Amino acid sequence: MQEIYLDNNATTRVDPAVLDEMMPFLTTLYGNPSSMHSFGGQVGRHMRLARERAAQCLGCTPEEIVFTACGTESDNTAINAALMAAPEKRHIVTTKVEHPAVLSYCKHLESRGFEVEFLSVDKEGHLDLDELRVSLRDDTAVVSVMYANNETGVIFPIPEIADICRERGVLLHTDAVQAVGKIPLDMKTLPVDFLALSGHKLHAPKGVGALYVRRGAPFRPFLIGGHQERGRRAGTENTASVVALGKAMELAAQGVGDENTRVRALRDRLENGLLSAIPESRVNGARDERLPNTSNISFKYVEGEAILLMLDQFGICASSGSACTSGSLEPSHVLRAMGVPFTFAHGSIRFSLSRFTTEAEIDTVLRELPPIIERLRVLSPFKAEGPEPLDAKPPCTC
Ligand SMILES: *Cc1c(COP(=O)(O)O)cnc(C)c1O
Repeated sequence: MQEIYLDNNATTRVDPAVLDEMMPFLTTLYGNPSSMHSFGGQVGRHMRLARERAAQCLGCTPEEIVFTACGTESDNTAINAALMAAPEKRHIVTTKVEHPAVLSYCKHLESRGFEVEFLSVDKEGHLDLDELRVSLRDDTAVVSVMYANNETGVIFPIPEIADICRERGVLLHTDAVQAVGKIPLDMKTLPVDFLALSGHKLHAPKGVGALYVRRGAPFRPFLIGGHQERGRRAGTENTASVVALGKAMELAAQGVGDENTRVRALRDRLENGLLSAIPESRVNGARDERLPNTSNISFKYVEGEAILLMLDQFGICASSGSACTSGSLEPSHVLRAMGVPFTFAHGSIRFSLSRFTTEAEIDTVLRELPPIIERLRVLSPFKAEGPEPLDAKPPCTC
């Protein structure tokens, strides 16, 4: 059975053109770009091309790109850089709906004596910009707000947030891991100081990422050792993956149009088809200001995990908005922050499409999912009338 892969916000397949481009650096072109010999030097030239392609994609200069090992490293590095550059500033502002790469790191910093403000979102997933304004202090070292949410696809108004931070002289980092390749980005007109991205979310391999560091932004390295990446990130370069990321970012820049026409149309077809075929279903998050590839839908009275298991029998890969940890099904921190009601939050499924998604795949989901929900609802303990059990926790069935 051929899988129907609709979990592209979790990871993506490597584009064949990207694999072609990286292959020689895993076989014959294995030199170290820092070596004096020309065998290493030619690898260095390909690294430079990758950096130029990455810069082209973001509308910045090659010197503003630092290659890292993942999106998580880029996020940690940016926040750490801001803190280390201004040790007298002990205050950080972020949101409740960040990816763990920011959220868990900020909680860790909190336990190390930093003060962190976690901004809330409304039921559409939007920030209150006045709340952001009020939260900024003289000792705020950095604001970290994601460009687009990985679970709902909701896009934050980073240009406006950047203006607010500029006005107060506060550094701004944005986790744009889900945004690159899906919406146009241009650092020439987007005054952020740091921006994180990850290879495996845009059809490059796992284990490579990049951090944009605006020229002149204060910076301190996270990894200390050799002089690689102009002293901003030590460690022998992952040449094959960096070359792959360069190619993937070139394709990402070219593919933004397709994402916003063809992929968006497929997503809307899937979403509207499911909403009309399945009663008591809803979309989580603002539907307009959203990534074109993402749909987070809740089906009342059923558990996301159960839906995923049944979809799996048809080879359909998606993900759910709850994680089975320590025996209880906890709705995702994002849906909880948005105040999604309990009986909806537990039945949430995220579909995330890509340039490889076909119409036939969407048709299969539209055919198979409605009867699955119907069957599960017959078995549901929550279908019984009566008020919604606000705090009840269902037994773990996964
Ligand atoms: C996947 C993801 C990350 C982490 O990237 P890795 O390369 O897996 O470390 C960070 N932020 C967001 C929004 C993501 O979706």
